[in-house]
Amino acid sequence: MSAHKDAERLKAQAATVVDGRSEELRRISLDIHGHPEVAFQEHRAAKLLAGYLEANGFRVERGICDMPTAFKASYGSGRPAIAILAEYDALPKLGHACGHNIIGTAAVGAGVALKGAVDALGGSVAVFGTPAEEVWGGKVPMVEKGAFAEVDCALEVHPSSRNSVVNAALACVALDVEFFGKAAHAAAHPDWGINALEALLQSYSHINALRQHIRPTARIHGIITDGGEAANIVPAHAAGTFLVRAVDDDYLDELIERTLACFKAGALATGARLEYRFSSARYGAMHANRTLAEAFRQNLGRFRDPQGIEAPEKPQAMGSTDMGNVSAVVPAIHPMLAVAPPDVSLHTPEFVQWAAAPEGHQALLDGAKAMALTAIDVLADLQLLAAARAEFERGKASGWKEG
Ligand SMILES: [Zn+2]
Ligand SMILES: [Zn+2]
Repeated sequence: MSAHKDAERLKAQAATVVDGRSEELRRISLDIHGHPEVAFQEHRAAKLLAGYLEANGFRVERGICDMPTAFKASYGSGRPAIAILAEYDALPKLGHACGHNIIGTAAVGAGVALKGAVDALGGSVAVFGTPAEEVWGGKVPMVEKGAFAEVDCALEVHPSSRNSVVNAALACVALDVEFFGKAAHAAAHPDWGINALEALLQSYSHINALRQHIRPTARIHGIITDGGEAANIVPAHAAGTFLVRAVDDDYLDELIERTLACFKAGALATGARLEYRFSSARYGAMHANRTLAEAFRQNLGRFRDPQGIEAPEKPQAMGSTDMGNVSAVVPAIHPMLAVAPPDVSLHTPEFVQWAAAPEGHQALLDGAKAMALTAIDVLADLQLLAAARAEFERGKASGWKEG
């Protein structure tokens, strides 16, 4: 049998495995969705996903990279080594408004579907459980600790309101700020007080003023998490969390300095004392590998209308992901699969419903199949991997300025 026919047979087999496990995968996905766990608390989800892989013949290492809810589940040995990335954290209060129940379960489905191809073609597949994507960036320490050092490519799918195989994401960091003032009776002795809330509000206004003079692709936004205790007490403490995002690392550095200047100005003007700390890992910009994205597009086109799959030349960054950090060390893709109508945004209560709807499950199945089929392309065709690698090296050498 020719190599091509062999790959076709293995692809058909992998898709059949995913369909055959549809109900099991739905159960896992809905269980995670029904028990939302935020950053580093994803014990139930990690146990479900790693346990399913272990029960299906994967070797599981739990708590990798000093994170109790991270794991690596491997099948086969040697190269090519395919990484499939699972996320499973929820958003505080909102629940699975980013549909990470679908990401985690699709990764597991793809992993199990690949066993036959790994047996036939050699190489290996590892499903990486990556915690805390939303508010901290669990993949960042995984990258730093070399979790992907022996990996040839990394695949992940993300639910969305559109189908797009090439996506951009902004470099990003979270900044926690606190102002310390002095309490006083707000009517009897306002002159005795130092108003920490006023310091934060002035800083907020400075940031609003700054925003009209930054590049249109950059973002600075935040919330106030403490604005005082009672209206008749001058607030002695105020706090907020802000996100600073930019297309590249250099501009992110610049914007962090300019944002900090806004907070320092608020402190100077009011006499309140400023304390700040970075409260997330530093997310890197996403560098989608177009070679792998094209293979994924063709495979996804077997299950979704090819006309409805975008592969934009210059994708607009829609947010940030710690998959960006992975894409800086290994050829990686992070395609989006539609589970909701185009006017429904991620991170909303509406999206929580779609992540548990039949459309969400269909995206899980399609995503699992398209990742498995793309992995089979990589295992069966070393030229594809060489092309993906060459593109990656070109991007790295250019400082990711091209493409
Ligand atoms: Zn997400
Ligand atoms: Zn999200």
